[in-house]
Amino acid sequence: MKNEVAVVIVGAGPAGLATSAYLNLLSISNIILERENCCASLWRHRAYDRLNLHLAKEFCHLPHMPHPPTAPTFIPIKDFIQYLEDYVSHFDVKPKYCRMVESAAFHGKAKRWCVMATNSESGVAKEYSCRFLVVATGENSKEFIPDVPGLESFNGEVLHSSKYKSGSKYSGEAVLVVGCGNSGMEIAYDLASYGTKSSIVVRSLFHVLTKEIVQLGMTLLKSSPCNMVDDLVLSLGKLHFGDMTKYGIVRPSKGPFYLKEITGRSPVIDVGTLKKIKSGDIQVLPELKRVDGNEAIFANGNSHRFDAIVFATGYRSTARKWLKEDDYLLNQDGMPKHDFPNHWKGKNGLYCAGLSRRGLAGLSMDAQNVHVVTKEIVQLGMTLLKSSPCNMVDDLVLSLSKLQFGDMTKYGIVRLSDGPFYLKETNGRSPVIDVDTLKKIKSGYIQVLLELIRFDGNEAIFTNGNSHRFNTIVFATGYRSTTKKWV
Ligand SMILES: Cc1cc2nc3c(=O)[nH]c(=O)nc-3n(C[C@H](O)[C@H](O)[C@H](O)COP(=O)(O)OP(=O)(O)OC[C@H]3O[C@@H](n4cnc5c(N)ncnc54)[C@H](O)[C@@H]3O)c2cc1C
Repeated sequence: MKNEVAVVIVGAGPAGLATSAYLNLLSISNIILERENCCASLWRHRAYDRLNLHLAKEFCHLPHMPHPPTAPTFIPIKDFIQYLEDYVSHFDVKPKYCRMVESAAFHGKAKRWCVMATNSESGVAKEYSCRFLVVATGENSKEFIPDVPGLESFNGEVLHSSKYKSGSKYSGEAVLVVGCGNSGMEIAYDLASYGTKSSIVVRSLFHVLTKEIVQLGMTLLKSSPCNMVDDLVLSLGKLHFGDMTKYGIVRPSKGPFYLKEITGRSPVIDVGTLKKIKSGDIQVLPELKRVDGNEAIFANGNSHRFDAIVFATGYRSTARKWLKEDDYLLNQDGMPKHDFPNHWKGKNGLYCAGLSRRGLAGLSMDAQNVHVVTKEIVQLGMTLLKSSPCNMVDDLVLSLSKLQFGDMTKYGIVRLSDGPFYLKETNGRSPVIDVDTLKKIKSGYIQVLLELIRFDGNEAIFTNGNSHRFNTIVFATGYRSTTKKWV
């Protein structure tokens, strides 16, 4: 049997949960389809034991539920999972688990998405039909391990960082970590803490900062230009760590927040790894070229013997596998085609949340965007009007648009006391459908003026007495019927 719903959200990670919570607040029917048997599976099953949130709590909460003042600045993973469970029950989010979405296609004639999901417990496939579809399957949907020649000849354990739990079982062994992002650097540290001979492959330039410096930078970014913040955090980072070049760790020439902005790559947040590199407890090695039995051969020609290899080489989005007929929102890698902040909105009621490479803060913004369906709000209202009373529809679309645009009174835009569809019905006046004008008003690119009372040369004088000079005037003051003239 087909399930009809307004919105289908694919994925019950933080992005899917936040989107559903928002829609629940607006009483918009929605379903989350999640392939695993729980929500936030990344945090429950694919994280190592010593992981805490890398970013301060003010950048790691979902909409409408900040962490309490008593919570530690850097939240331990078990507390974050508890937070997500509280979030789910508070906003009455009820994902359908063990539903692997296999395909989603838009049917132009019916103007609906058809989503096919297989129940992994019963093996039964079911169709869901919806007007809006939200891709929330994450940037970390599938583990990525690069092709390394000879890897199949390695006799020890080969694993992805998502399967790594703790260094305790490798004590006394030689373990190679490939990848120097946050996971790789922390796993190398964890291994060394358990008395493992820990080595890490570093083949690219990257920034290392402390979590406190990153917190300061993120706070300053709210009010200061990126280049100034980068200069400051770089000076602090250099003071804190000194020159790490001789240990094989070289900083890029561009600043950490600038690089995050344009490439999505985060600076590494040090958990003590650099100290262990300096003391020789962790060995830094260049690019891994090939493997021959238990020997790993590196770009400088040297080879070393290892008992295990951990690939901390990241993840890939898998959205492209199941999302059909979209050539606007996502690229071939299943990531947004358009740059932030225009990355989240596709065509035909398609949206994505959690794919902006901006962590929990970014996915919270996406979740709030998704409910904002501007033109679609009107479309939704017109559809609902077929079966619901005008005052109910007006209440709904007004709540939606207030959430979307916020209070515009201070910018000179004041709503009428009657609802938009009631006014359309009674005096024929349509609501304005925003094409991003309000955004430009808020940012100061468009100036809102009061009633124009007269001209004096090129000066226009307004009811508040102010005058402004203009070169051109466009009257968008409507039309009149001329029938009366000749009937
Ligand atoms: C080790 C690690 C540490 C991190 N630390 C931080 C941090 O401190 N702060 C921060 O902001 N960010 C951090 N991140 C980034 C983090 O991934 C995101 O912030 C967040 O988990 C992303 O949420 P999401 O909902 O977009 O994706 P996910 O959490 O990946 O959720 C996507 C969901 O979609 C489901 N899914 C996928 N495909 C299908 C399908 N076909 N059908 C049905 N369901 C499907 C998955 O099972 C999953 O549950 C970290 C990431 C990692 C890997």
